[in-house]
Amino acid sequence: MAAITMQNLVKKYDDGFPAVNDVSIDVADGEFLILVGPSGCGKSTLLRMVVGLEDITSGELLIDGERVNDKAPRDRNLSMVFQNYALYPHLTVYENIAFPLRLSKGQFSNDEIDRKVRAASDTLDLDDHLERKPANLSGGQRQRVAMGRAIVRDADAFLFDEPLSNLDAKLRGQMRTEIAQLQRRMGITSIYVTHDQTEAMTLGDRVAVLKKGVLQQIASPRELYEQPVNLFVAGFIGAPSMNFLPARIEGNVFKTPIGDIDVPERVQQKVSGKNDIVLLGLRPEHFEDSKFVDEAKVPHGTTFEAEFTHTEWLGNQQYGYIQFEQDQAVKHKLDELAKDLDADEMPSQVVVSLDASSRIRGGTAANIWLDARRMHVFDPETGENLT
Ligand code: ATP
Repeated sequence: MAAITMQNLVKKYDDGFPAVNDVSIDVADGEFLILVGPSGCGKSTLLRMVVGLEDITSGELLIDGERVNDKAPRDRNLSMVFQNYALYPHLTVYENIAFPLRLSKGQFSNDEIDRKVRAASDTLDLDDHLERKPANLSGGQRQRVAMGRAIVRDADAFLFDEPLSNLDAKLRGQMRTEIAQLQRRMGITSIYVTHDQTEAMTLGDRVAVLKKGVLQQIASPRELYEQPVNLFVAGFIGAPSMNFLPARIEGNVFKTPIGDIDVPERVQQKVSGKNDIVLLGLRPEHFEDSKFVDEAKVPHGTTFEAEFTHTEWLGNQQYGYIQFEQDQAVKHKLDELAKDLDADEMPSQVVVSLDASSRIRGGTAANIWLDARRMHVFDPETGENLT
């Protein structure tokens, strides 16, 4: 096992644009780190730099304190699992798993290879399929073979490049659990690239969020969710996404298009002096149908009336939708920020989570309660979280 240290890593391809821009991350021995971000943010490039499939333009890469920038991939002793599994179609499952051991010529006897392949296939529940070729396996089984090839070696770390993206949603969920359990059981340092925020939130000890090659935040899933440093991270993590609502500050009140919201005490100082507009960040679960709010909680928030366009009932809960008009005077400015949400303009809808038995329906106005303790306030120029 090994600690992996990335120090100011930069990767410039031929066009000179930094696909990875000054990224520093310490992955502790045994840690499960997720690299997440939208398409093109540089996460695969960063992973490939670690494994040695891309040259490092500048910066230092250390494995257990040793500089490995110039080491060939095979000398880094890392196991990589690829998105397309990279299995050999003409080899059986057994030989596919044995392949990395046979590559290190003479290092392992046939008996040792057999023992290791059987141990890996046992771990991954592949014993019954060892004589099959990849074409005769399901997607999930192929995925397991790719995992088998990674775990059969005593690698210092696992590197995963979107290993589940070719699977359907149900299988993806199942394999996600298997990978999480395997990693915990083996306690092996792992770096896992995904653009799927559910994978990011459920698999990792820590999650690193990248945007355009730049590291935005690295933190535990809970911290990312509860304390995103900026609009980009806030919008990326969480489903349904955080709502963003423009607000003018008038004394101790945020004037918003869906109603007046008292400025919580903890926020007052942070927004004082900001006489223009700010963006409130409100997660769907920060709202409740006011009929369902504990009396003791009421003073910690604001109750106001909102017009619902429609609701969605999901059995265990509901979502209510509130449309609003963006203030034309600030629309242009906010639409610049919308790029951080991968949108052309700021959404003009708020999604509110409601109790499953709430009677709020589309086309009606109803009182909702907002937990002011949990609101975020973002700077409309920089997208920075002010709270
Ligand atoms: P995805 O989720 O789509 O795989 P990613 O976050 O993994 O995206 P990368 O594949 O690392 O992103 O790409 C980062 C940037 O580098 C992109 O702008 C991409 O176009 C560019 N890039 C990647 N590989 C090359 C290459 N071989 N030559 C030139 N540019 C490249």
